[in-house]
Amino acid sequence: MNTYGRLDIAFERGEGAYLWDTNNNKYLDALGGIAVCGLGHTHPDISKAISEQAHKLIHTSNLYRIPAQEKLATQLCELSGMESVFFSNSGAEANEAAIKIARLFGHDKGIHDPIIIVMETSFHGRTLATLTATGNRKIQAGFEPLVHGFARVPYNDIEAIRAVAKNTKNVVAVLVEPIQGEGGINIPDSQYLNEIRSLCDEHDWLMMLDEIQTGMCRTGQWFAHQHNNIKPDVMTLAKSLGNGFPIGACVAGSKAASVFKPGNHGSTYGGNPLACHVASTVIETMQKIGANELAQNMGNYMLDEFKTKLKNQPAVTDVRGKGMMLGIQLDQPCGELVANAAKQGLLINVASERVIRLLPPLIFGKTEADTTIDTICKLINEFTTRK
Ligand SMILES: *Cc1c(COP(=O)(O)O)cnc(C)c1O
Repeated sequence: MNTYGRLDIAFERGEGAYLWDTNNNKYLDALGGIAVCGLGHTHPDISKAISEQAHKLIHTSNLYRIPAQEKLATQLCELSGMESVFFSNSGAEANEAAIKIARLFGHDKGIHDPIIIVMETSFHGRTLATLTATGNRKIQAGFEPLVHGFARVPYNDIEAIRAVAKNTKNVVAVLVEPIQGEGGINIPDSQYLNEIRSLCDEHDWLMMLDEIQTGMCRTGQWFAHQHNNIKPDVMTLAKSLGNGFPIGACVAGSKAASVFKPGNHGSTYGGNPLACHVASTVIETMQKIGANELAQNMGNYMLDEFKTKLKNQPAVTDVRGKGMMLGIQLDQPCGELVANAAKQGLLINVASERVIRLLPPLIFGKTEADTTIDTICKLINEFTTRK
């Protein structure tokens, strides 16, 4: 179906940070399949894990124990300090699980019309509940009636959450991204998540973090909330978890850990042996290469370089980022830069109309970083002088 506005480029193969199209043109990928290919394209450990597991066992269903799923759950719990995991096949489904946990948590304590607080300019997926949670009218328009049970507040505004708490008795959870990705790499104040944690404790709400884009070493920690030394009650993952193999996870701890009972939720494919073995290998490979340090170091380098090189560019209103999640905000819509960059052999994205968004593989080397920086600075100069 005609659901995507695609560029007319067809990729045939990839290796590390590079892709080749069907005409054998080479591209540097500074978008990593939208934060999915953290380890780059066709990482040999991941390709090997896929092929070995594919020859051993692919799928059995969740009617039986799945050792690969138990192993991956244990790894995620050890990395997060949380307690239980539900596996899905995508980010939206992981958030659906989180939303269902919040509602059931509410019903269990006698709140039969539970409300989840969500943010403006957020993104949580394209299913009916997750597009309702999403703070973007364009994504919702035409799909009404939306799902009941969400209250929306501005991002990075703790007072707005307090105000909802005052006026609404039936809040059960807050669902928030540690850094908004689709919203344009919006980084909240350093204490924002800590304050949400305190509010959730105070009111017995679930703190639910959508780490689908920020998780898996993207920001220089396994999960972005670890920069704040807090633990959420629920955390959702997908994107880099499978490095391109479809898998999502809803991780829960403390009062959220055992809300679901047998029969409450399920997925036929979710957490099958192949997907889980691949994700386990992603984690082990990230550990092996020190992905957090790589993301932190190269992210800092790119952020500093962009700041220095774009300092005197009046069209650039902000340069921000954490780890390998970078945004360059312009004073005007700049969607055409995506195609202009592709013509120069560089893959980037524009989010929220005027923010150049970079989500490079965490294995980006200095050569790749410098090429990206030089190309983007040149593109911005051309774009602004031409207007
Ligand atoms: C990509 C994304 C989703 C949706 O994931 P899908 O796998 O496309 O369903 C949800 N939340 C955030 C923060 C995302 O970046």
